[in-house]
Amino acid sequence: MPVHDPTDLAANGFERRLAAITATALRADSVERDELLAVLASSDDDLLDVIAAAGRVRRKFFGRRVKLNYLVNMKSGMCPEDCGYCSQRLGSTAEILKYSWINPDEAAGHARCAIDAGAKRICLVAAGRGPADRDIERVTDTIAVIKNSAPAVEVCVCLGLLKHGQAERLRAAGADAYNHNLNTSAENYGRICSTHSFTDRAATVAAAKSAGLSPCSGAIVGMGESDDDIVDVALALRELQPDSVPVNFLIPFEGTPLGGHWELTPQRCLRILAMFRFAFPDVEVRVAGGREIHLRSLQPLALHLANSMFLGDYLTSQGQPGEADRAMIADAGFVIEGIDESTLPVDRHDLVVTRRRGAGTTIPANT
Ligand code: SF4
Repeated sequence: MPVHDPTDLAANGFERRLAAITATALRADSVERDELLAVLASSDDDLLDVIAAAGRVRRKFFGRRVKLNYLVNMKSGMCPEDCGYCSQRLGSTAEILKYSWINPDEAAGHARCAIDAGAKRICLVAAGRGPADRDIERVTDTIAVIKNSAPAVEVCVCLGLLKHGQAERLRAAGADAYNHNLNTSAENYGRICSTHSFTDRAATVAAAKSAGLSPCSGAIVGMGESDDDIVDVALALRELQPDSVPVNFLIPFEGTPLGGHWELTPQRCLRILAMFRFAFPDVEVRVAGGREIHLRSLQPLALHLANSMFLGDYLTSQGQPGEADRAMIADAGFVIEGIDESTLPVDRHDLVVTRRRGAGTTIPANT
């Protein structure tokens, strides 16, 4: 009688499960909640298999392209909201830069540098509960200056909760996308913020989408949430059908309630990114804030999972130099997605490509 090692059986069980999850994601079908939980609960011994499997999904839908996004913090600090993870929150004593609205020319100048360095999307962000009408005008002027010098660049706006009609005004001003993260599960939301609700956030993402803005909405992990919370926020996001999903790793600023809270390992970050890739096979998944400090020397592995990242600095903390970001992408065998390559779903002409090779041409067949 052969004797089975129970650990082998468990390993084979996960291998089979991972193969089924991968097959589902490769078809762009919805991977179920339990399967997403299994990815998060997998062991470090399985990590490279998980990355390889999720990497197949990433390559099927995005090849080896990496989209670079650049944040312009238009107004920093002094927010009246109390999001516990945020260095700009009410009562934060984090020693961050604090300033009121920068003018459109200054914002466009930073955007220009980022575009020249490979950024395809500029994210115009301002701290606050939500914009006043005057703020929409400021952003409208900024979009005009940026688009005047770089018409093909994507502009995403992130101004907090939107009031009736504001999403439509931003769309009319030429904004391509609107970012508003759900951050964590509905159940966990009350633990991280008391001044607005999960429902408020979801309503703004929905309003942006119905105004024709490409919805960008993601999560923050490393705040003491459970695996269930992470999967639940992924599933809540999936219901909102975002076009891009930033995955942030908590930057634990001293002077905020979560200061000094370090719970993530590089391996855990990679499993979380793999879970988001399986949950969003053909949607832009962005490795966002905190990648340098949590993934550390394993950052390049994240490129096999996420197809998008921020270039350079974040809103209130510094990222690694842009030059190091570009070198990492090249060294890992990926390529920066060009500004002329339109990949917003509305422009996904790349999904239907007229054949210009093989039969009827002098160009070899695609074999
Ligand atoms: S996340 Fe936004 S709304 Fe919350 S405290 Fe920070 S700037 Fe304010």
